Amino acid sequence: MTEATMAGPTAPKLELHRPVKSWLQVTATCNLQCKQCYGDCTPEPKSDEMTVDQFHQVLDDMADSGVIELLVEGGEPLQRPDVLDILAHAAPRMLVRLRTNGTLLDEAMADRVRAAGIRNLCIDFMGATPETHDWHVGEPGAFEKTLNGLKVSLAAGFETLALVIMTKRNAGEIQQFIDLCAAAGVRRVGILRLYPLGRAKRHWKAMALSLPEQMAALEDLNVPDDVHLMRSWHPRDANCCWQASGVDARGQSVGCSYLRDFADFGNVLETPFLETWKHPLFVKLRSRDIEDHCPDCASTQGSAGGCRSTAYAFTGDWDAPDPYCTTTNRGIDVQLLPTRLLSEGT
Ligand code: SF4
Ligand code: SF4
Repeated sequence: MTEATMAGPTAPKLELHRPVKSWLQVTATCNLQCKQCYGDCTPEPKSDEMTVDQFHQVLDDMADSGVIELLVEGGEPLQRPDVLDILAHAAPRMLVRLRTNGTLLDEAMADRVRAAGIRNLCIDFMGATPETHDWHVGEPGAFEKTLNGLKVSLAAGFETLALVIMTKRNAGEIQQFIDLCAAAGVRRVGILRLYPLGRAKRHWKAMALSLPEQMAALEDLNVPDDVHLMRSWHPRDANCCWQASGVDARGQSVGCSYLRDFADFGNVLETPFLETWKHPLFVKLRSRDIEDHCPDCASTQGSAGGCRSTAYAFTGDWDAPDPYCTTTNRGIDVQLLPTRLLSEGT
């Protein structure tokens, strides 16, 4: 037993018998080509993406299985011609959040998204300046389009969450990003960690910060009182597998967007969604039986060990603690990717 597990109490575990939250990737197509893209998305649609009728079937299955909150992502969802049809099918059945790069969100599109029943948007930035953002997303002028999308979202009355994935290149702009969002009228801002998934693996050296550098960049941030700041690091992130589920654009049940490179619980066009959620590996991940954990997360959130995706990525062990936690890092240099990940060739 390590010092981390010895200290502090553990809250009673919450155990769900049905999935309440889910993630749905509606396309792996995107108008940008970001270095950090976890889906390794491409400009042209992949032939094995589900049809709109199949998405309706999956949404019905999710709703019948208990899902009440859905995060819809891409690729860029607004690039998919029939996405409004998919959103309109989901919106009466569950609380839907739509995550977008914002570049295609003009007033007319905002009206159509609202008419589909959507009230919550998450908009992704990769920096607080055109130079930094455009370097990540690979397109000059993209920052201004995304900033315009943010302003359109706010003006149209959407609950708007502005996100930034923190990298070596934008870590010095986090305060500027918070200030930019606050000045625009955003009330919810999220700073996300970088995951070794998809295209991000190929650009890891250029983007990954060490854990001490990540912690330093998050220190002493000045957050206005009327802005809620979300950060996906210990102890606020904990281990949220227990409440997760997710399906990619091909219908593969993967548990969470961050597990998509590592987990496959079956295809929901062939196997009922609830059955894939009961896959033995996902039951194990949801059990939160981790070999080491920090008492802060365990006692305050009833979950332990941190993110299962990062733990598995860096150790190859589903039971290992999250190396992005300073308490349970175990000396892992998160700037160095295991050769196992690199050899997967994605
Ligand atoms: S990260 Fe998002 S915006 Fe960038 S290429 Fe991937 S799907 Fe598109
Ligand atoms: S712990 Fe990590 S892998 Fe599991 S649901 Fe949360 S973000 Fe996803």
